[in-house]
Amino acid sequence: MIVILKDQEKREQIDLLVEWLGKQGVSVQATEGAHRTILGLIGDTSHIDIDLLRALEIVEDVKRVQEPYKKANRKFHPKDTVVRIGDVEIGGDSFAVIAGPCSVESEAQLSAVAEAVKGAGAGLLRGGAFKPRTSPYAFQGLRAEGIRMLLEAKRRTGLPIVTELMDPSQIPLFEEVDVIQIGARNMQNFELLKEVGALRKPILLKRGLSSTLQEFVMSAEYIMAGGNEQVILCERGIRTFETATRNTLDLSAIPALRQMTHLPIIVDPSHATGYARFVAPMALAAVAAGANGLMIEVHNDPSAALCDGPQSLPPDAFSDLMKRVNAVRSALL
Ligand code: PEP
Ligand code: MN
Repeated sequence: MIVILKDQEKREQIDLLVEWLGKQGVSVQATEGAHRTILGLIGDTSHIDIDLLRALEIVEDVKRVQEPYKKANRKFHPKDTVVRIGDVEIGGDSFAVIAGPCSVESEAQLSAVAEAVKGAGAGLLRGGAFKPRTSPYAFQGLRAEGIRMLLEAKRRTGLPIVTELMDPSQIPLFEEVDVIQIGARNMQNFELLKEVGALRKPILLKRGLSSTLQEFVMSAEYIMAGGNEQVILCERGIRTFETATRNTLDLSAIPALRQMTHLPIIVDPSHATGYARFVAPMALAAVAAGANGLMIEVHNDPSAALCDGPQSLPPDAFSDLMKRVNAVRSALL
């Protein structure tokens, strides 16, 4: 980190700042120019509040040389992280598809979808039991009963399950859940991130609706700082001025995140576009752009879905998409 001081500042003010920085555990190298002094901070600056420094009377500007994330940083871990869930791997050269309904609605619905996505080649089954809905009057999920149905589908199909956790009080219900999803709306729920950081199971972290990639990686860092390094990042579209799609799928997040972090990156074209007819083209584009996996919403009867029907693929369309995903993957080899 580099701190540029204002012109002609008093010696004792500079000395006080250098002393304070020393107490923060960094060593300071001062360079005095003809007009200004520049302080180079050496050591771990990740805990230094850059805005606090910037606000000081004698400080002109502060620049970070190193990113504020360490455990997620590719610079310190050049090798790709591969997250293993049973026989499924996500990351590095391994690719996996997570598919299933937006919400678990009934035993019959979940088992029909689970069998269909398994037959089409999905590696993991998704389904929301606790649903973050914009309206308090919308279907909120089957909660504990939904988790029970997911575990039943897992037993029947052998597919590992992915489901969203919204509150730490629900954690005891997630003991046999294979991958815990932290949804877009909770990406910066730091207390929740700390709670899942204390667990030892894979976390699927979705990008916040209006989050920068640095904020996204910092949220992964929260989980990793607690010792849980099995984090999968999911780009699911961001808020823009565009209204033709539910969100705007930021495909450039794939190569950009790839450069920033070693964590696996998957793409959810269902929430990103909001329309079933846009899901396949964007899924294929994500694969071509280097995604390590996809998360696709599939429903046996989309028109009757209790949540996200318009963006859900019926099983035959999902099966067709899987063939095309495989064709794009082999074309890339
Ligand atoms: C979901 O995956 O069902 C979901 C609610 O996604 P997001 O958090 O990305 O909106
Ligand atoms: Mn959904």
